[in-house]
Amino acid sequence: MDSAKAFRFVVEHFCDQDPVFAEVFKSILDLGMPDISLNPVAGKLLTLLTKMTNAERVLEIGSLAGYSGVCLAKGMRDDGEFVALELNADYARVAEGFVRKVGFKGNIRYLVGPALDGLRTLKAEGKTFDLVFIDADKEHYPDYLLGSLELARAGSLIVADNALWKGRVFDPAQSSADTEGVRAFIGMLKEHPRLDSIVLPFGDGFALAFVGV
Ligand code: SAM
Repeated sequence: MDSAKAFRFVVEHFCDQDPVFAEVFKSILDLGMPDISLNPVAGKLLTLLTKMTNAERVLEIGSLAGYSGVCLAKGMRDDGEFVALELNADYARVAEGFVRKVGFKGNIRYLVGPALDGLRTLKAEGKTFDLVFIDADKEHYPDYLLGSLELARAGSLIVADNALWKGRVFDPAQSSADTEGVRAFIGMLKEHPRLDSIVLPFGDGFALAFVGV
């Protein structure tokens, strides 16, 4: 099977064609943001996972222009709370606008600044989350996973993009801080006693981790 053709087929048949996504991508171009949003199959998977887990409180780490935020919000309960951590204030403003536009009626909150600070703030507030999506800088993936675990309850789901980091995680010649961060993250997904995990080998590697007691 031609995997590129199969991917296009699935996108055409199953992925959400909401016009808000075209607006997100136009903003990325117009504002000169990097073109590093989640792929559409992973985006639809985020919506489904949020629905399947009946997630009331969702945390996103790394927003860019809001593509993944919109995917998450589309699957959320209207009495829920969506919290996003984003370093860049301009990106956060754009992303928040799109998440509001998509019709999610719950509480929406963007914390601007380093995600590690945001995670500390949420912990100090005693927050817990049903689903966390990690998609910020790769160097800190292990810290984001530990921070997410502190905000998770038994039964929460932690999801992350770029878990195979363009194949660099299994290429011994690669040793950048980002690659080492994702490698350590993969090791934790596998070994952490509270996690039962898998990495789906499509896109750039999409990790799912179920949080136990
Ligand atoms: N999840 C987004 C989507 O699919 O639409 C893409 C996120 S993009 C891959 C990574 C984002 O993480 C960027 O918006 C970047 O500004 C943000 N970021 C990078 N380092 C960060 C940090 N230390 N704290 C918070 N956000 C960070």
